[in-house]
Amino acid sequence: MKTDGSINLAEEIKYRCNIVDVVGRVVPLKKTGANHKGPCPFHKEADPSFVVSEDKQIFTCFGCGATGDVISFVEKYYSLDFMGAAE
Ligand SMILES: [Zn+2]
Repeated sequence: MKTDGSINLAEEIKYRCNIVDVVGRVVPLKKTGANHKGPCPFHKEADPSFVVSEDKQIFTCFGCGATGDVISFVEKYYSLDFMGAAE
């Protein structure tokens, strides 16, 4: 069975990875109640306002408004990285 590689990868990340594990690899997350909290990787901040919901498998930043699921996180994070490296 042959399927499109990019869709395959995206689906695989989505169904096999817990967003907390994926985000936790690059952001130091702390468990706070039902959610995990840490410093936002998308903007500079002193107080962590980046929240990851394990239940909903989404992230939300109350500082810069970044939000999405595990796929959006990976895309956003690595395109950020890429732009930084290109500078
Ligand atoms: Zn932010």
